[in-house]
Amino acid sequence: MPNIDHYIGGRIVAGTGERRADVFNPATGEVSGRVALANKADVAAAVEAASAALPGWAATPPVVRARVMFKFKYLVEAHADELVRLISAEHGKVQSDARGELSRGLEVVEFACGIPHLQKGEFSENVGTNVDSFSMRQPVGVCVGITPFNFPAMVPMWMFPIALACGNSFILKPSERDPSTALRLAELLSEAGLPPGVFNVVNGDKEAVDALLTDPRVDAISFVGSTPIAEYIYRTGTEHGKRVQALGGAKNHMVVMPDADLSQATDALMGAAYGSAGERCMAVSVAVAVGGVGDALMERLEPKVRALKIGPGNDPEAEMGPLVTRQHRDKVRGYVDQGVKEGAKLVVDGRDLKLQGYENGFYIGGCLFDDVTTDMTIYKEEIFGPVLAVVRVPDFDQAVGMINDHEYGNGTAIFTRDGDAARTFANKIKVGMVGINVPIPVPMAFHSFGGWKRSLFGDHAVHGMEGVHFYTRLKTVTSRWPTGIRAGAEFTMPVMK
Ligand code: NAD
Repeated sequence: MPNIDHYIGGRIVAGTGERRADVFNPATGEVSGRVALANKADVAAAVEAASAALPGWAATPPVVRARVMFKFKYLVEAHADELVRLISAEHGKVQSDARGELSRGLEVVEFACGIPHLQKGEFSENVGTNVDSFSMRQPVGVCVGITPFNFPAMVPMWMFPIALACGNSFILKPSERDPSTALRLAELLSEAGLPPGVFNVVNGDKEAVDALLTDPRVDAISFVGSTPIAEYIYRTGTEHGKRVQALGGAKNHMVVMPDADLSQATDALMGAAYGSAGERCMAVSVAVAVGGVGDALMERLEPKVRALKIGPGNDPEAEMGPLVTRQHRDKVRGYVDQGVKEGAKLVVDGRDLKLQGYENGFYIGGCLFDDVTTDMTIYKEEIFGPVLAVVRVPDFDQAVGMINDHEYGNGTAIFTRDGDAARTFANKIKVGMVGINVPIPVPMAFHSFGGWKRSLFGDHAVHGMEGVHFYTRLKTVTSRWPTGIRAGAEFTMPVMK
């Protein structure tokens, strides 16, 4: 059974922690590796390596750091097939989807290649007589990324390309459920010329995370995962004086207006609800059918959900793979049971799906609920599986109201041909990322990704200029080069003249 270890100081190390966890192939249910779970000493070794490497890397000219990113981009592209297989083998998602996540991650690397421009400060001549002022953005220091299972390449790549390009060192704590991709990315960064210790991977669970959150040498924490843990990370990290951005869970609604192109809306819902088996923070899990469009929408959705092609990630025909673990599959099944118990109408029931030859895989078929109401558990909570809830509302205002009342505010979309409805929706909705006839409005790397309400704790979204600002500290210098006349001490608040 292969061991999956840590990457500290430029090499793979087993660490001193005695605990390990099983990593599964979700398609077959078999254990494929044993991941090391770092103890405090392992975390301390990674922080030590990152601290030692920081001054040299921070002093490296941005243009040289950018060249490492260029080389890394080339290496990720050259190893894309291998990375795609690795992602799919431990996560379970179909390989075409794994390729998509890798491309979205690469876009952030491309963005980070422009760091000499992005990190430029501002300059004002003569803010007072013969006084100039300029600002610069300096690295924050030792940065940490704690990431979820559902995007083992893309979510870490939202963080580290920008952090590194800005001159920080980085410690990644990937999900213990699919840790191998992170290690391979670490090797490729080294091959691209990143000095040892600038990027480290510590595998582990709560013990490792807690050690990172409380280590005084860690300066900033980026977290992506579920809301309860995001809130815990934000509270604990800020209590220990760190800069923290913590992205949490989601319940994304897609509003279907009566004038929408229903075949487009149905296709959009299929991809957004069942792609990656619903294990996406931007998955649409609620369709809001407005003003009588519900029947026509259900008529179109039902046969498509029944026809979903489900299979192992390496089946090129499969549209949807298994869930990540048996435990998660059972949790999703439990939510479907609960929906039935609370009175929602289960139109397509995927709970008992069995795939020949993959009887022990963690599969569940697509599930479709109609007549869901806002007091039901399946409406309120994030299920993170291939379960779509259709809620019927009489008008636009009720659709907007229910979305604004929901505790999460990650993504949302509206399908309509009415520009006024679309504009009002974009203006009034309390959600961070909005799609107009676009079901999964994930911003490109040069914009920023982040939700509102309990989908994000902290002040900065990830990547784009928000990422550059998160991973840099602003310093503003006011300077004067006197020509000889010394005026003596000033005791009043300085006012520029
Ligand atoms: P999770 O919260 O269980 O785990 C995320 C990370 O936190 C992992 O690295 C894990 O090891 C660590 N962790 C787990 N329990 C911990 C604890 N008690 N103390 C300290 N650390 C702990 O999330 P997950 O199941 O891996 O991922 C799915 C969740 O992530 C979903 O809720 C999804 O919406 C969310 N997500 C959000 C975004 C976003 O951009 N908002 C993106 C992707 C995923």
